Amino acid sequence: MAERRALITGVTGQDGAYLSKFLLDQGYDVHGLLRRSASADVIDSRLKWLGIADKVTLHDGNLTDLSGLIRTMEAVAPSEVYNLAAQSFVKSSWQQPLLTGAVTGLGVANILEAVRIVCPTARFYQASSSEMFGLVQAPVQSETTPFYPRSPYAAAKLYGHWMTINYRESFGLHASSGILFNHESPLRGIEFVTRKITDAVARIKLGMQTTLALGNLNAKRDWGHARDYVKAMWLMLQQDDSDDYVVATGRRASVREFCTLAFEHVGLNMDDHVVVDSQYFRPSEVEQLVGDPSKAKAKLGWTAETSLEELVCEMVDSDIERLQSHSRL
Ligand code: NDP
Ligand code: GDP
Repeated sequence: MAERRALITGVTGQDGAYLSKFLLDQGYDVHGLLRRSASADVIDSRLKWLGIADKVTLHDGNLTDLSGLIRTMEAVAPSEVYNLAAQSFVKSSWQQPLLTGAVTGLGVANILEAVRIVCPTARFYQASSSEMFGLVQAPVQSETTPFYPRSPYAAAKLYGHWMTINYRESFGLHASSGILFNHESPLRGIEFVTRKITDAVARIKLGMQTTLALGNLNAKRDWGHARDYVKAMWLMLQQDDSDDYVVATGRRASVREFCTLAFEHVGLNMDDHVVVDSQYFRPSEVEQLVGDPSKAKAKLGWTAETSLEELVCEMVDSDIERLQSHSRL
Protein backbone atom coordinates (compact mmCIF):
# COMPACT_ATOMS: atom_id res chain seq x y z
CA MET A 1 0.00 0.00 0.00
CA ALA A 2 1.24 3.51 -0.85
CA GLU A 3 2.53 5.51 2.10
CA ARG A 4 -0.23 7.44 3.81
CA ARG A 5 0.95 10.97 4.48
CA ALA A 6 -1.14 13.59 6.25
CA LEU A 7 -0.70 17.34 6.49
CA ILE A 8 -2.45 18.94 9.47
CA THR A 9 -2.90 22.69 9.83
CA GLY A 10 -3.51 23.70 13.44
CA VAL A 11 -1.26 20.83 14.54
CA THR A 12 -0.32 22.63 17.78
CA GLY A 13 -3.97 22.97 18.87
CA GLN A 14 -6.14 20.56 20.82
CA ASP A 15 -7.50 18.64 17.83
CA GLY A 16 -4.23 18.78 15.92
CA ALA A 17 -2.48 17.00 18.79
CA TYR A 18 -5.11 14.26 19.16
CA LEU A 19 -5.39 13.80 15.38
CA SER A 20 -1.60 13.51 15.08
CA LYS A 21 -1.60 10.80 17.74
CA PHE A 22 -4.47 8.96 16.06
CA LEU A 23 -2.85 9.07 12.60
CA LEU A 24 0.58 8.03 13.91
CA ASP A 25 -1.09 5.03 15.56
CA GLN A 26 -2.60 4.18 12.14
CA GLY A 27 0.88 4.21 10.57
CA TYR A 28 0.69 7.60 8.85
CA ASP A 29 3.63 9.87 8.13
CA VAL A 30 2.34 13.00 9.90
CA HIS A 31 3.29 16.56 8.96
CA GLY A 32 2.02 19.77 10.53
CA LEU A 33 1.92 23.46 9.66
CA LEU A 34 3.50 25.55 12.42
CA ARG A 35 3.09 29.31 12.57
CA ARG A 36 6.17 31.07 13.79
CA SER A 37 6.08 32.08 17.46
CA ALA A 38 8.46 33.94 19.74
CA SER A 39 7.61 31.31 22.35
CA ALA A 40 9.06 28.42 20.38
CA ASP A 41 9.79 26.46 23.56
CA VAL A 42 6.08 26.03 24.45
CA ILE A 43 4.43 26.03 21.02
CA ASP A 44 4.41 22.21 20.82
CA SER A 45 3.39 21.61 24.45
CA ARG A 46 0.30 19.59 23.50
CA LEU A 47 2.29 17.31 21.21
CA LYS A 48 4.80 16.90 24.04
CA TRP A 49 2.01 16.12 26.54
CA LEU A 50 0.93 13.24 24.27
CA GLY A 51 4.57 12.13 23.84
CA ILE A 52 4.62 12.59 20.04
CA ALA A 53 6.47 15.89 19.48
CA ASP A 54 9.47 14.12 17.92
CA LYS A 55 7.26 12.02 15.60
CA VAL A 56 5.52 14.88 13.75
CA THR A 57 7.42 16.80 11.03
CA LEU A 58 6.69 20.51 11.37
CA HIS A 59 6.74 23.05 8.52
CA ASP A 60 6.88 26.79 9.00
CA GLY A 61 3.80 28.47 7.49
CA ASN A 62 0.61 30.43 7.99
CA LEU A 63 -2.92 29.95 6.71
CA THR A 64 -2.93 33.53 5.42
CA ASP A 65 0.12 33.00 3.17
CA LEU A 66 -0.85 31.16 -0.02
CA SER A 67 2.66 31.00 -1.50
CA GLY A 68 3.97 29.35 1.65
CA LEU A 69 1.06 26.89 1.66
CA ILE A 70 1.84 25.94 -1.94
CA ARG A 71 5.50 25.32 -1.09
CA THR A 72 4.52 23.23 1.93
CA MET A 73 2.06 21.23 -0.14
CA GLU A 74 4.80 20.58 -2.75
CA ALA A 75 7.30 19.53 -0.08
CA VAL A 76 4.93 17.18 1.75
CA ALA A 77 2.83 15.81 -1.15
CA PRO A 78 0.12 14.69 1.27
CA SER A 79 -2.54 12.09 0.55
CA GLU A 80 -4.80 13.70 3.19
CA VAL A 81 -5.04 17.32 4.33
CA TYR A 82 -6.80 18.27 7.57
CA ASN A 83 -7.52 21.98 7.88
CA LEU A 84 -7.85 22.54 11.64
CA ALA A 85 -6.11 25.94 11.89
CA ALA A 86 -8.31 28.85 12.92
CA GLN A 87 -8.75 31.76 15.26
CA SER A 88 -11.05 29.44 17.17
CA PHE A 89 -12.20 31.41 20.22
CA VAL A 90 -15.67 32.91 19.66
CA LYS A 91 -15.31 35.71 22.22
CA SER A 92 -12.08 36.98 20.62
CA SER A 93 -13.78 37.17 17.25
CA TRP A 94 -15.64 40.36 18.26
CA GLN A 95 -12.33 41.86 19.33
CA GLN A 96 -10.53 40.73 16.15
CA PRO A 97 -13.23 40.33 13.46
CA LEU A 98 -10.93 41.01 10.49
CA LEU A 99 -8.18 38.68 11.67
CA THR A 100 -10.82 36.03 12.32
CA GLY A 101 -12.20 36.51 8.81
CA ALA A 102 -8.71 36.36 7.28
CA VAL A 103 -7.69 33.14 9.05
CA THR A 104 -10.88 31.23 9.87
CA GLY A 105 -12.65 32.26 6.63
CA LEU A 106 -10.27 33.24 3.81
CA GLY A 107 -7.61 30.87 5.14
CA VAL A 108 -9.85 28.01 3.99
CA ALA A 109 -9.85 29.43 0.45
CA ASN A 110 -6.05 29.61 0.61
CA ILE A 111 -5.60 25.99 1.59
CA LEU A 112 -8.23 24.79 -0.88
CA GLU A 113 -6.37 26.67 -3.61
CA ALA A 114 -3.06 25.10 -2.55
CA VAL A 115 -4.66 21.65 -2.70
CA ARG A 116 -6.28 22.36 -6.08
CA ILE A 117 -3.01 23.64 -7.56
CA VAL A 118 -0.53 21.15 -6.09
CA CYS A 119 -2.31 17.93 -5.07
CA PRO A 120 -5.90 17.83 -6.35
CA THR A 121 -6.24 14.13 -5.61
CA ALA A 122 -5.48 14.60 -1.91
CA ARG A 123 -8.47 14.18 0.38
CA PHE A 124 -9.41 17.31 2.31
CA TYR A 125 -11.09 17.84 5.68
CA GLN A 126 -12.51 21.18 6.81
CA ALA A 127 -13.15 21.87 10.51
CA SER A 128 -16.61 23.38 10.38
CA SER A 129 -18.49 24.19 13.56
CA SER A 130 -21.86 23.89 15.30
CA GLU A 131 -21.48 27.64 15.97
CA MET A 132 -22.78 28.04 12.39
CA PHE A 133 -26.23 27.05 13.74
CA GLY A 134 -26.05 29.96 16.21
CA LEU A 135 -29.59 31.16 16.78
CA VAL A 136 -30.87 27.66 16.31
CA GLN A 137 -33.59 27.05 13.74
CA ALA A 138 -34.45 23.56 15.04
CA PRO A 139 -34.44 22.07 18.57
CA VAL A 140 -31.82 19.48 17.52
CA GLN A 141 -29.43 20.40 14.71
CA SER A 142 -28.55 18.11 11.79
CA GLU A 143 -26.93 18.47 8.36
CA THR A 144 -30.22 19.87 6.97
CA THR A 145 -30.82 22.53 9.65
CA PRO A 146 -30.48 26.10 8.30
CA PHE A 147 -27.53 28.11 9.60
CA TYR A 148 -27.78 31.39 11.56
CA PRO A 149 -24.28 32.50 12.65
CA ARG A 150 -24.11 34.74 15.73
CA SER A 151 -20.46 35.86 15.81
CA PRO A 152 -17.69 36.90 13.43
CA TYR A 153 -16.19 33.47 14.14
CA ALA A 154 -19.34 31.66 13.05
CA ALA A 155 -19.73 33.84 9.94
CA ALA A 156 -16.12 33.06 8.96
CA LYS A 157 -16.67 29.33 9.54
CA LEU A 158 -19.76 29.46 7.34
CA TYR A 159 -17.68 30.91 4.49
CA GLY A 160 -15.12 28.12 4.90
CA HIS A 161 -17.89 25.52 5.01
CA TRP A 162 -19.47 26.69 1.75
CA MET A 163 -16.09 27.07 0.03
CA THR A 164 -15.36 23.44 0.88
CA ILE A 165 -18.67 22.37 -0.66
CA ASN A 166 -18.05 24.66 -3.64
CA TYR A 167 -14.60 23.18 -4.35
CA ARG A 168 -16.11 19.70 -4.14
CA GLU A 169 -18.81 20.62 -6.64
CA SER A 170 -16.70 22.87 -8.91
CA PHE A 171 -13.43 20.96 -9.13
CA GLY A 172 -14.32 17.47 -7.94
CA LEU A 173 -12.07 17.66 -4.87
CA HIS A 174 -12.64 14.97 -2.25
CA ALA A 175 -13.46 17.69 0.29
CA SER A 176 -15.48 16.88 3.42
CA SER A 177 -16.74 19.18 6.11
CA GLY A 178 -17.23 18.04 9.69
CA ILE A 179 -19.79 20.12 11.55
CA LEU A 180 -18.38 19.36 14.95
CA PHE A 181 -20.14 20.28 18.17
CA ASN A 182 -18.03 21.40 21.13
CA HIS A 183 -15.37 18.90 22.07
CA GLU A 184 -13.07 19.22 25.01
CA SER A 185 -10.18 17.44 26.71
CA PRO A 186 -7.27 18.11 29.06
CA LEU A 187 -5.65 19.79 26.02
CA ARG A 188 -8.49 22.31 25.51
CA GLY A 189 -7.42 25.97 25.43
CA ILE A 190 -7.60 27.51 28.90
CA GLU A 191 -9.98 30.32 27.78
CA PHE A 192 -12.82 27.94 26.83
CA VAL A 193 -15.40 27.50 29.56
CA THR A 194 -14.84 23.79 30.23
CA ARG A 195 -11.10 24.02 30.73
CA LYS A 196 -11.45 27.31 32.59
CA ILE A 197 -13.73 25.46 35.01
CA THR A 198 -11.59 22.34 35.43
CA ASP A 199 -8.40 24.37 35.86
CA ALA A 200 -10.10 26.52 38.51
CA VAL A 201 -11.58 23.51 40.31
CA ALA A 202 -8.09 21.98 40.46
CA ARG A 203 -6.60 25.23 41.78
CA ILE A 204 -9.36 25.63 44.39
CA LYS A 205 -8.90 22.02 45.51
CA LEU A 206 -5.13 22.58 45.84
CA GLY A 207 -5.64 25.83 47.79
CA MET A 208 -4.25 28.03 45.01
CA GLN A 209 -7.41 30.15 44.47
CA THR A 210 -10.85 30.55 46.04
CA THR A 211 -13.29 31.86 43.42
CA LEU A 212 -14.17 31.27 39.78
CA ALA A 213 -15.73 34.10 37.74
CA LEU A 214 -17.93 32.97 34.84
CA GLY A 215 -20.45 34.50 32.43
CA ASN A 216 -23.70 32.92 31.23
CA LEU A 217 -24.24 29.79 33.36
CA ASN A 218 -27.43 28.91 31.49
CA ALA A 219 -25.80 28.45 28.06
CA LYS A 220 -26.18 24.86 26.88
CA ARG A 221 -23.76 22.88 24.76
CA ASP A 222 -23.30 19.36 23.43
CA TRP A 223 -19.87 18.49 24.85
CA GLY A 224 -17.89 15.49 23.63
CA HIS A 225 -14.25 14.36 23.92
CA ALA A 226 -11.75 15.56 21.27
CA ARG A 227 -10.10 12.12 21.24
CA ASP A 228 -13.36 10.61 19.95
CA TYR A 229 -14.01 13.43 17.47
CA VAL A 230 -10.71 13.24 15.56
CA LYS A 231 -11.61 9.67 14.62
CA ALA A 232 -14.72 11.00 12.88
CA MET A 233 -12.52 13.40 10.85
CA TRP A 234 -10.41 10.50 9.64
CA LEU A 235 -13.43 8.31 8.87
CA MET A 236 -14.84 11.06 6.62
CA LEU A 237 -11.71 10.93 4.45
CA GLN A 238 -11.87 7.12 4.17
CA GLN A 239 -15.27 7.21 2.39
CA ASP A 240 -15.54 6.81 -1.40
CA ASP A 241 -17.42 10.12 -1.63
CA SER A 242 -16.87 13.36 0.26
CA ASP A 243 -19.78 14.79 2.24
CA ASP A 244 -20.79 16.88 5.28
CA TYR A 245 -21.40 15.33 8.69
CA VAL A 246 -22.64 16.51 12.07
CA VAL A 247 -20.45 15.10 14.85
CA ALA A 248 -22.02 15.32 18.31
CA THR A 249 -23.09 13.29 21.35
CA GLY A 250 -26.79 14.21 21.20
CA ARG A 251 -26.75 15.25 24.88
CA ARG A 252 -27.30 18.85 25.94
CA ALA A 253 -25.95 20.21 29.26
CA SER A 254 -25.64 23.70 30.72
CA VAL A 255 -22.49 25.45 31.88
CA ARG A 256 -23.98 25.19 35.40
CA GLU A 257 -24.31 21.39 35.05
CA PHE A 258 -20.71 21.07 33.80
CA CYS A 259 -19.58 23.16 36.74
CA THR A 260 -21.57 21.11 39.24
CA LEU A 261 -20.02 17.87 37.96
CA ALA A 262 -16.49 19.33 38.14
CA PHE A 263 -16.82 20.65 41.70
CA GLU A 264 -18.59 17.49 42.93
CA HIS A 265 -15.76 15.35 41.53
CA VAL A 266 -13.40 16.84 44.14
CA GLY A 267 -15.99 17.02 46.94
CA LEU A 268 -16.73 20.77 46.64
CA ASN A 269 -19.93 22.80 46.10
CA MET A 270 -19.89 25.23 43.17
CA ASP A 271 -22.17 27.69 45.03
CA ASP A 272 -19.33 28.30 47.52
CA HIS A 273 -16.93 29.41 44.78
CA VAL A 274 -18.60 30.56 41.52
CA VAL A 275 -19.44 34.23 40.91
CA VAL A 276 -21.04 35.68 37.78
CA ASP A 277 -19.07 38.47 36.09
CA SER A 278 -20.65 40.35 33.19
CA GLN A 279 -17.28 40.78 31.46
CA TYR A 280 -17.69 37.17 30.29
CA PHE A 281 -21.06 37.80 28.60
CA ARG A 282 -21.05 38.07 24.79
CA PRO A 283 -22.52 40.73 22.49
CA SER A 284 -24.79 38.03 21.05
CA GLU A 285 -25.03 34.60 22.60
CA VAL A 286 -25.55 31.10 21.27
CA GLU A 287 -27.92 29.95 24.00
CA GLN A 288 -28.15 26.29 23.14
CA LEU A 289 -26.72 23.68 20.82
CA VAL A 290 -27.33 19.96 20.56
CA GLY A 291 -26.53 17.83 17.54
CA ASP A 292 -28.09 14.83 15.85
CA PRO A 293 -25.20 12.48 14.93
CA SER A 294 -27.44 9.92 13.13
CA LYS A 295 -25.78 10.40 9.73
CA ALA A 296 -22.26 9.97 11.14
CA LYS A 297 -23.43 6.80 12.90
CA ALA A 298 -25.16 5.36 9.83
CA LYS A 299 -22.51 6.23 7.22
CA LEU A 300 -19.25 6.35 9.18
CA GLY A 301 -20.11 3.90 11.96
CA TRP A 302 -19.04 6.62 14.40
CA THR A 303 -20.42 7.25 17.89
CA ALA A 304 -19.12 9.27 20.81
CA GLU A 305 -17.47 6.93 23.29
CA THR A 306 -16.85 9.24 26.28
CA SER A 307 -19.68 10.37 28.56
CA LEU A 308 -19.88 13.91 29.90
CA GLU A 309 -19.15 12.60 33.41
CA GLU A 310 -16.02 10.78 32.19
CA LEU A 311 -14.88 13.86 30.28
CA VAL A 312 -15.24 16.17 33.29
CA CYS A 313 -13.41 13.78 35.63
CA GLU A 314 -10.54 13.27 33.16
CA MET A 315 -10.13 17.03 32.73
CA VAL A 316 -10.20 17.82 36.46
CA ASP A 317 -7.78 14.97 37.29
CA SER A 318 -5.42 16.06 34.52
CA ASP A 319 -5.41 19.67 35.73
CA ILE A 320 -4.64 18.55 39.29
CA GLU A 321 -1.79 16.37 37.97
CA ARG A 322 -0.46 19.20 35.79
CA LEU A 323 -0.50 21.74 38.62
CA GLN A 324 1.15 19.33 41.05
CA SER A 325 3.91 18.53 38.56
CA HIS A 326 4.33 22.20 37.49
CA SER A 327 3.95 21.15 33.84
CA ARG A 328 3.17 23.62 31.06
CA LEU A 329 -0.04 23.05 29.13
P1 NDP B 1 -7.24 25.40 18.87
O1 NDP B 1 -7.55 26.83 19.11
O2 NDP B 1 -6.78 24.54 20.00
O3 NDP B 1 -6.13 25.29 17.71
C1 NDP B 1 -6.11 26.18 16.64
C2 NDP B 1 -4.86 25.94 15.83
O4 NDP B 1 -4.82 26.85 14.72
C3 NDP B 1 -3.55 26.14 16.60
O5 NDP B 1 -2.63 25.17 16.21
C4 NDP B 1 -3.10 27.52 16.11
O6 NDP B 1 -1.71 27.74 16.20
C5 NDP B 1 -3.52 27.43 14.65
N1 NDP B 1 -3.57 28.71 13.97
C6 NDP B 1 -4.25 29.83 14.35
N2 NDP B 1 -4.07 30.81 13.46
C7 NDP B 1 -3.27 30.31 12.49
C8 NDP B 1 -2.73 30.85 11.29
N3 NDP B 1 -2.97 32.10 10.91
N4 NDP B 1 -1.95 30.04 10.53
C9 NDP B 1 -1.70 28.77 10.88
N5 NDP B 1 -2.17 28.21 12.02
C10 NDP B 1 -2.95 28.98 12.81
O7 NDP B 1 -8.55 24.75 18.19
P2 NDP B 1 -9.13 23.25 18.31
O8 NDP B 1 -8.03 22.29 18.17
O9 NDP B 1 -10.04 23.18 19.48
O10 NDP B 1 -10.08 23.20 17.04
C11 NDP B 1 -9.58 22.77 15.76
C12 NDP B 1 -10.46 23.34 14.68
O11 NDP B 1 -11.80 22.87 14.85
C13 NDP B 1 -10.55 24.86 14.65
O12 NDP B 1 -10.66 25.26 13.30
C14 NDP B 1 -11.84 25.16 15.40
O13 NDP B 1 -12.38 26.39 15.01
C15 NDP B 1 -12.68 23.98 14.95
N6 NDP B 1 -13.74 23.58 15.85
C16 NDP B 1 -13.44 23.30 17.14
C17 NDP B 1 -14.42 22.88 18.01
C18 NDP B 1 -14.10 22.54 19.42
O14 NDP B 1 -15.04 22.39 20.21
N7 NDP B 1 -12.84 22.38 19.81
C19 NDP B 1 -15.83 22.75 17.57
C20 NDP B 1 -16.01 22.99 16.14
C21 NDP B 1 -15.00 23.40 15.33
P3 NDP B 1 -1.03 28.31 17.55
O15 NDP B 1 -0.75 27.12 18.41
O16 NDP B 1 0.19 28.97 17.03
O17 NDP B 1 -2.01 29.27 18.19
P1 GDP C 1 -18.00 28.23 22.31
O1 GDP C 1 -19.24 27.40 22.34
O2 GDP C 1 -17.09 27.89 21.17
O3 GDP C 1 -18.24 29.69 22.40
O4 GDP C 1 -17.15 27.73 23.58
P2 GDP C 1 -16.86 28.42 25.01
O5 GDP C 1 -16.36 27.33 25.89
O6 GDP C 1 -15.99 29.62 24.86
O7 GDP C 1 -18.29 28.92 25.52
C1 GDP C 1 -19.35 28.01 25.73
C2 GDP C 1 -20.49 28.75 26.42
O8 GDP C 1 -20.10 29.03 27.77
C3 GDP C 1 -20.87 30.09 25.79
O9 GDP C 1 -22.27 30.16 25.69
C4 GDP C 1 -20.35 31.12 26.79
O10 GDP C 1 -21.11 32.33 26.84
C5 GDP C 1 -20.51 30.34 28.09
N1 GDP C 1 -19.66 30.86 29.18
C6 GDP C 1 -20.08 31.21 30.42
N2 GDP C 1 -19.06 31.69 31.13
C7 GDP C 1 -17.95 31.64 30.35
C8 GDP C 1 -16.59 31.99 30.57
O11 GDP C 1 -16.18 32.46 31.61
N3 GDP C 1 -15.72 31.78 29.53
C9 GDP C 1 -16.16 31.23 28.33
N4 GDP C 1 -15.26 31.00 27.37
N5 GDP C 1 -17.45 30.92 28.10
C10 GDP C 1 -18.33 31.11 29.10
